[in-house]
Amino acid sequence: MSTPKKPNNEAIERLIANRKKHAASLTLDQLVAGIRANNRGVLSESITLVESSDVEHATLGQEVLQACLPYSGNSIRIGITGVPGVGKSTFIEEFGLFLAESGKKVAVLAIDPSSEVSKGSILGDKTRMNNLAVHPNAYIRPTATSGSLGGVARKTRETILLTEAAGFEVILIETVGVGQSETQVHSMTDFFLLLMLAGAGDELQGIKRGIMEMADTILITKADGENVKKANLARAEYKNALHLFPTKSNEWIPRVETVSATEKRGIEKAWEIITSFDELVISNGAKLQHREAQQIYWMHETVKEQLLSEFAATKGIQEEIIKQRTALKSGETTSYQAAKKIINYYKNAKR
Ligand code: GDP
Repeated sequence: MSTPKKPNNEAIERLIANRKKHAASLTLDQLVAGIRANNRGVLSESITLVESSDVEHATLGQEVLQACLPYSGNSIRIGITGVPGVGKSTFIEEFGLFLAESGKKVAVLAIDPSSEVSKGSILGDKTRMNNLAVHPNAYIRPTATSGSLGGVARKTRETILLTEAAGFEVILIETVGVGQSETQVHSMTDFFLLLMLAGAGDELQGIKRGIMEMADTILITKADGENVKKANLARAEYKNALHLFPTKSNEWIPRVETVSATEKRGIEKAWEIITSFDELVISNGAKLQHREAQQIYWMHETVKEQLLSEFAATKGIQEEIIKQRTALKSGETTSYQAAKKIINYYKNAKR
C-alpha cells in the first residue's frame, strides 16, 4: 500500500499568498465607512464578501453586516414578480428612473432561481436597465447565482441590509414568477407587486392562486395601443378575483391598476399606491410586526436548512437511507421505525 503523498508546502504557501492577493483590500472600518458614505464600489465589495464561499471573506462580510445593522431597515422593500416577458425589467427601469429622478435612492436586486441554468436571466444580462444603471441615485446588483435557493435568499436579505445602510430608500427585489422564489421574496419584502399580462389567462401565466393572494397590488402591463381595452378588462377581472380572498391582517386592500412602461403611464400611480400602503402599515404598526415575523421565519428556515445540509453530509447516511428503503420495500419495517433508525445513525455519527 502506498502512503498518501504529503501535501506540498510550497503549493500551500502559493495558495495562501494567492488568497491574500484576492482578499478584501479594505479593513472592516473602511468598508463600513465606505458603505455609510454611499460608495458603490465599497458596497459592491462588501456584498461580494457576504456572498463569498471563502471562510475568511465570509467572516469579514458578516462583521461588516453586523456593524451596518444599526443603520439598516430604513427603507421600503418592494418585491416584484411576474412571468418572463411580462415586462418586469422595462417596468423596473422606468419606475426606478422615476424614483431616482425625484431624488430617491433606489437599489435593484434579484432572486433568480433559474440563473444556474440560464447563467443569469434576470439582472445578469447587462443590456437590461441601461439607463437606470448609470443614474447617480440608482444601484443595480446582479443576481447572486451560487448556492441553494435558501443560500441565494440569505445573500439577498443581507444585501438588502447593506444597501439600506448605504442610504438606499427604495429596494426593488425582482424575481421570475416561476415557483418557490416568490414565496422567498414575499418573505423579505414589505410590499409585493405582481405584474400580469392582459388576456393571457392565469393558467397560461403560471401564476398560482397563492401568489395572487400574496400580492399587495397587481399591475396589468403593456396597457398601450391595441392592448388598452384588454388591459382594462383584465383589471376588472382581477379586481373581482381579489375580492374573493380573505382581507389582510394589515388592513390593506389590494389594488389592481394598468401600466405602460414604454409609454410611461401608470408609473407615478404605482408609487402613490406604494406610499399610501407604507403610510398605512407604519401608522398601524403592521410594517414592524411583519418585519419581525420575517426575521423569526428566516431564523427557523436557516436552522432547518443548516441541519438538513449537515444531515445530508453525514458520512454513510446515504447508505443507511438505502438500507432502510430496502427494508421498507420488503415490509420488514415501518416508515416511522425506518426514520428513527436513520436519525439514530445521524446522531451516533455526530458523537
Ligand atoms: P421581463 O422578462 O418580465 O423582464 O420582460 P421585459 O421587460 O424584458 O419585456 C418583455 C417584452 O415586452 C420586451 O420586448 C419589451 O419591450 C416589451 N414591453 C415591456 N413593457 C412594455 C410596455 O409597457 N408596452 C409594450 N407595448 N411592450 C412592453
